[in-house]
Amino acid sequence: MLQDEIIRLKREKNAVILAHYYQDKDVQDIADYVGDSLELSKIAARTQADVIVFCGVNFMAETAKILSPTKKVLLPVKEAKCPMAMMVDAPSLKKYKEEHPDRIVICYVNSYADVKALSDVCVTSANAEKIIMNYKDQKMLYVPDKNLGIYLRDKYNLDIEVWPGFCCIHNHLKVAQVLEMREKHPGALVLIHPEAPLKVLKQADFIGSTKQIIDYATSSPAKEFIIGTEDGILHPLRKNNPDKQFHILTPDLRCWDMKLTTLQDVYLSLKNDTYEITVPEDVMQGARRALDKMMEMS
Ligand code: SF4
Repeated sequence: MLQDEIIRLKREKNAVILAHYYQDKDVQDIADYVGDSLELSKIAARTQADVIVFCGVNFMAETAKILSPTKKVLLPVKEAKCPMAMMVDAPSLKKYKEEHPDRIVICYVNSYADVKALSDVCVTSANAEKIIMNYKDQKMLYVPDKNLGIYLRDKYNLDIEVWPGFCCIHNHLKVAQVLEMREKHPGALVLIHPEAPLKVLKQADFIGSTKQIIDYATSSPAKEFIIGTEDGILHPLRKNNPDKQFHILTPDLRCWDMKLTTLQDVYLSLKNDTYEITVPEDVMQGARRALDKMMEMS
């Protein structure tokens, strides 16, 4: 069986498999650790394995490489990229900084290393609220997710400019979809990821990162939930809570980049050492500084 071959190769190469919650359930089930960006970054930073196979999109594998520079980091599918991360580039951010030298640059982890290297600190959706409060009296720029930036600005009344990027999956959520689902499932609580537009977030009972949504649903006495984030989350939610019901807010909540990785890709990645992630040394150092600051503050 493919799963047995993956386990054999993993032992032979002293490898660890990390998978994001948005991966296909077969990939999540073969992984040593399943988590969101923050949890997986922490695991990547402390692992003793020689090889990290990162099942996610390329900025995540790049982040793992920055946090574990002596390890071999592999991304099973070379084409797995986050469209949001591609919405900000280093030359444009450099120009913005020259024009606005007084703004602290807060960089969402969904970004490439050269953008992180130009930023003061990185954040994830799980720790963004906590980290920005360290700068609450300063002017900030939030890159690249406008929705998360607007949500934080609105919640704490802060001086935050936002980059015009967005997650192609969460950005399409509509208020009407929430209202329709509430009508279909009147007793259910609505849990939404902060990459959604503010007017949609205002309809939620709880707003949180993928892991925070899982923790909230697991500890809640409620039995039925409407989930406003990528549908890969349904696997851990249902696994941890067999007595509860979960409805996806809309079937469009499916990130095709996240779903590119198959078990066969994981097997081939381990077998052929593909595709190895590299980051230029000078970029690595700058990005590491912004990620270390995030770890320190989270
Ligand atoms: S779900 Fe959104 S933010 Fe996450 S990888 Fe896909 S496009 Fe990027």
